[in-house]
Amino acid sequence: MSALAFAAERAVAINAVLAASNVCQRVFTKLVNGETITKKDKSPVTIADYSAQAVVNSILYKSFPTDPIVGEEDSKDLRGEEGRSMREKVLELANTGLESALSEDSLLETIDRGTFAGGAKGRMWALDPIDGTKGFLRGEQFAVCLALIVDGQVQVGVMGCPNLPVDAKNKDGEKGCLFITVKGQGAFQRNFSSNTETPIAMSAIQSLADASFCESVESGHSNQSESAKIANLLGITKAPVRMDSQCKYCSISRGDAEVYLRLPVSASYEEKIWDHASGSLLVAEAGGIVSDIHGKPLDFSKGRTLATNSGVIAAHAKIHGRVIEAVQKVLFPEGKL
Ligand code: AMP
Ligand code: MG
Repeated sequence: MSALAFAAERAVAINAVLAASNVCQRVFTKLVNGETITKKDKSPVTIADYSAQAVVNSILYKSFPTDPIVGEEDSKDLRGEEGRSMREKVLELANTGLESALSEDSLLETIDRGTFAGGAKGRMWALDPIDGTKGFLRGEQFAVCLALIVDGQVQVGVMGCPNLPVDAKNKDGEKGCLFITVKGQGAFQRNFSSNTETPIAMSAIQSLADASFCESVESGHSNQSESAKIANLLGITKAPVRMDSQCKYCSISRGDAEVYLRLPVSASYEEKIWDHASGSLLVAEAGGIVSDIHGKPLDFSKGRTLATNSGVIAAHAKIHGRVIEAVQKVLFPEGKL
């Protein structure tokens, strides 16, 4: 029997995301809960961000040394005398997640492997070491998100969600899940406490009136007043499920909610590929469609951003068209695109 496509990449991505998720949890316990560093100056999330990127990049490099990485962070602020204090903390934390310790120099070099410009050709990884930094600081949802893109198509996606309940119906129960997908091979959830993978699928509700939708907690990331109008037009009566990070993609993929609306708040903002690569493949493999607000597929071949897309709409394939119609009616009442 031939091995499944991207089996090695899938396995390495799982290891990398789990190791980085553990680092993030350690930072939270030590720095945020311990109040060693105040939440206000945002330094815990900065330390966790850099450490998680160093861990993932280092693990990827061992198995795929020639693969470029499009990562959110670079080492600029960790360099020189000014960066020393942060650099030392990042080094210590990153090394707790790695088998062979990095030196200061190799730490900076490893983080900077994430500066690739992206594009339409070849293999590249897209990494958000902590997606949902505000959620991380609040002790709510955040995710370590890693995807492999080949010739502009997302092929593998792995997301670690340390604070997500393993069962949405039991919010106070066990937390910590990993979501795994390979194009054409389905969508899976695995809990941090075991290595059993369970297939997941979107809920196939027929009546939009029964649906609920997800959106960002931050009104600066998605237009919440327009989403309320869209929900109203669709007959959705349930309150929006507000959640930070790509946990929204994970939640709808396993049927916790049916629709994810991300409506542009400014015409100039370009969504980043690392904010959507893994989540959008998970939804597609769980039976959904992901597009921009015009119904256009997300195009990961344009560099570090989704430069030719605007916003994101994700929903079960059966209802996606109706959601796009409502989005268009509300956002462009005169029919202007
Ligand atoms: P979320 O947790 O879904 O609100 O998304 C978090 C992500 O929003 C971060 O990783 C940022 O890259 C991204 N972001 C920052 N500013 C904006 C904006 N103006 N519109 C949309 N997304 C943004
Ligand atoms: Mg992000």
